[in-house]
Amino acid sequence: MAEYWKEPARRALRADGLRIADLDTSARPGFHGDKAGGKRLLVERGRVLAGEQEKLYANGRSGDRRSVLLVLQGMDTAGKGGIVRHVIGSVDPQGVDHAAFGVPTEEEKQHHFLWRIRRALPRGGQLGVFDRSHYEDVLVARVHGLVPEEVWQGRYEEINRFERELVDNGTTLVKVALFVSLDEQKARLRERLQRPDKYWKFSPGDIDERAYWPAYQDAYQAILDRNGTEYAPWYVIPADAKWYARLAVTELLIEALRDLDLSWPAPTFDPAAELRRLERS
Ligand code: AMP
Ligand code: MG
Repeated sequence: MAEYWKEPARRALRADGLRIADLDTSARPGFHGDKAGGKRLLVERGRVLAGEQEKLYANGRSGDRRSVLLVLQGMDTAGKGGIVRHVIGSVDPQGVDHAAFGVPTEEEKQHHFLWRIRRALPRGGQLGVFDRSHYEDVLVARVHGLVPEEVWQGRYEEINRFERELVDNGTTLVKVALFVSLDEQKARLRERLQRPDKYWKFSPGDIDERAYWPAYQDAYQAILDRNGTEYAPWYVIPADAKWYARLAVTELLIEALRDLDLSWPAPTFDPAAELRRLERS
């Protein structure tokens, strides 16, 4: 735990019992410091994260089947892409399994909603990152009635069973929901429309989705209530301050990796003997 965090990020951010309606999206739970300190710390902790992830990767290369999967959810502009760039961007890309889930393709639509998810799961030793996930099938699918209610209602339990299976197979799930305020989203969408280098992030539909904000809040509340389990808890991150959200995810990942209690894999050779051989060569 870094000096600025007086309690583990996991404890400060765990969603148990949280009401989204009461959430202050500009808060910085668990962090004691200002923006400048937070940004400095982000660089420092990014290096720590990279070291922990390298150990996971090294163990994977030696046959360890364990993995860590970061699941990112949040409304448009909540900062999912920024987490991928800045947090995951600080680690060795060889050890990262990244997948982004958009509107299902024709092929994906022919399958069960978990089909495309299963195909993207991290291999042993990998840090998996899901930019959106199986949760879209109880978020956008519920809000827009893409499937009948009895279908999406059944998915909550299905997701719990699926996640139980992942955990039993050695995957640590770090499920993060990023929340910005409706006003902050407006400011971020405005920026996307005013900067040519940000047009690519904008879809006209993003504006229409704003009308569904309360329905999304309810759908998010439901996943926290129904899919926040002991083995795969949800973490809620107020995300109006991008630096804070990035720092919080960095800490959650460091804590998850440290929990695996990884050490550097033992050599399959005798280093001293090999050194002697090398010197003679
Ligand atoms: P973006 O993350 O901005 O690239 O947008 C991806 C879009 O895909 C969002 O509008 C999501 O709501 C949508 N999407 C993701 N998963 C699903 C799904 N299972 N069903 C329908 N739409 C989805
Ligand atoms: Mg988008």
